[in-house]
Amino acid sequence: MIIAIDGTAASGKGTLAKRVAERYGLAHLDTGLLYRAVGCLGGRSDVSLSDEDALADLAEDLDLDGFDEEELRSDGAGANASIVAAHPKVRAALMDYQRRFARQPGGAVLDGRDIGTVICPDADVKLWVDAAVEERARRRHAELSARGESSSYEIVLKQMRARDARDAARADAPMVKAADAHLIDTTSMTIEAAVERACEIIDRTVAR
Ligand code: C5P
Repeated sequence: MIIAIDGTAASGKGTLAKRVAERYGLAHLDTGLLYRAVGCLGGRSDVSLSDEDALADLAEDLDLDGFDEEELRSDGAGANASIVAAHPKVRAALMDYQRRFARQPGGAVLDGRDIGTVICPDADVKLWVDAAVEERARRRHAELSARGESSSYEIVLKQMRARDARDAARADAPMVKAADAHLIDTTSMTIEAAVERACEIIDRTVAR
């Protein structure tokens, strides 16, 4: 069984994907980490974020081992990821890896922006996870504050809107809900409630 979970930043899709994978005993790939790692590698090797060919070469040889997860999950890495993710050659270089992961025996849960539309258009179940941008910015701001990273709510909200706009506007594999994806709006939902809702949808879809 392949489960595609796409959605906006800080919508809760990552935690949801992890919990769903645990519940069904499936492997899980957070595909955002791939784009984050390419952005970090670019920074380490002094490659400009606009140098599509050089970034695609880095993406071809990508190995997630050896990255510090905290570094990858920082806000700066997320913003850089969204810049490198707009390059079609970078996306093409990461495609095979994601598809192979999805096709492993037993199946997998992949979360990202284009899993249901481009990477696994034939996924058994597609979920689209979203929440109001103000709520997503509130969550991200609380997360940053807990980590001791100071930033005002207004700045976080502005950055969140900029990232949404860049992800949705790019020509190649824009962030968009697949026509056959089920919407889970987490604006006023706990993560536990979102997981239950996701499992209901999965069980119902698979039983059909
Ligand atoms: O999901 P996460 O916030 O870690 O993703 C970081 C960035 O990577 C996104 O803003 C998006 O630009 C890019 N991304 C993508 N396609 C995916 C996963 C992430 O373009 N499947």
